[in-house]
Amino acid sequence: MSQVDPVTEIEALQTELCILQSHLDRMIERIRQNDDKLHRFHTLETELLALNSLRELVEHVLADTRAVFDLAHVSLTLIDRKGELRQFLMEDGLQPEKLPGLILVAEENPLKDWFGRTFRPYLGDCKARHRHLFSGECPASIALLPLGRRGQLLGSLNLGSDEADRFSYGMATDFLDRLRSVLSVCLENTLNFELLRRTSLIDTLTGVNNRRFFEQRLSEEIDRAQRTREPLTCLFLDIDHFKKINDTYGHQTGDLVLAEVAQQIRTQLRSNDVLARYGGEEFVALLPGANLERGIEVAERIRQRIENLEIVDHNQNTVSLTLSIGVAEYDPELVSPVGKEDLMRLLELADQALYVAKREGRNQVESGGVLTRLEHKAAG
Ligand code: GH3
Ligand code: MG
Ligand code: MG
Repeated sequence: MSQVDPVTEIEALQTELCILQSHLDRMIERIRQNDDKLHRFHTLETELLALNSLRELVEHVLADTRAVFDLAHVSLTLIDRKGELRQFLMEDGLQPEKLPGLILVAEENPLKDWFGRTFRPYLGDCKARHRHLFSGECPASIALLPLGRRGQLLGSLNLGSDEADRFSYGMATDFLDRLRSVLSVCLENTLNFELLRRTSLIDTLTGVNNRRFFEQRLSEEIDRAQRTREPLTCLFLDIDHFKKINDTYGHQTGDLVLAEVAQQIRTQLRSNDVLARYGGEEFVALLPGANLERGIEVAERIRQRIENLEIVDHNQNTVSLTLSIGVAEYDPELVSPVGKEDLMRLLELADQALYVAKREGRNQVESGGVLTRLEHKAAG
């Protein structure tokens, strides 16, 4: 039997222990990194789920994905068939061309061809056809993640790495799958929300109708007035020195005042009267069947009610305010048939009267009179 030198054996064990220790260190480091990545990813996910506007979503995705996944290139392609997404972004003050990494395309191809019907991600080399996704460069490896829901392709998230083995065909992609799912849901929700925001007819702050609804109804009500030969009166109402309320008590109190004023005006109107928030602190009302005299009466009642109103805000401040109102009537016997310009003229008449009320010292009702025939119409 050969004798093993105990010293050599101890040395061998020590070497093995060192190797094991270094393996363990590397594993611990990898777990720590994964844990860290998971944490950052979780934060990104939570943030994405809380966003409401397309602009916020696009900006977050482009900046945060790059940081969380430590990538050299990130871009986002969105399919914008009717130019609606461009419109949403522009309305929120973002010019799509000015945001590097955002690519709006009118067609779903070639994306649809790349991902197929089952929305398969692409991982691997960057081919010439992918260059445009990365500002004309070709990263060492790329991952293209299709974004879509219920069979509809919405776009793709394009990730590029300087490391050739970062993304390769067939690799485990738990993180990427998860990112893709979350982002798809967020994108679909945000787009639905944006559409709803624009097609809704209610002003969310005050609960009364919005300007879009009012403009539709104005033309319907004028048609009806012509058919029934009944007058229609329009009121323009504007809170006096509203800016001062915001400046003194804060925007939150300003919002409360707007909502309360809208409700108070509503109490003075009939159920078939139309009330809408026309702009910031400006409301407009349409009173079908009411002539100028009746319109002035209603306006006066509203004015008094607001003058006597006391609103208590969240800081227990008591806020008082006044309102100026302009009134104008449309009489179908005087102007018929009506064109689009007549609708605008009725609003202008009420608005000009409001302007006079402001100039004369505010907290008053001013009449703009009855809409008359346009000169060229009278001649014809
Ligand atoms: P005037 O008597 O001439 O009408 O003066 P005003 O201060 O009421 O009118 P001005 O047009 O100078 O200011 C309107 C203010 O309304 C400015 C704007 O910040 C504020 N405003 C517009 N929309 C909102 C809103 O939704 N909430 C709040 N809190 N303020 C708003
Ligand atoms: Mg005002
Ligand atoms: Mg105003």
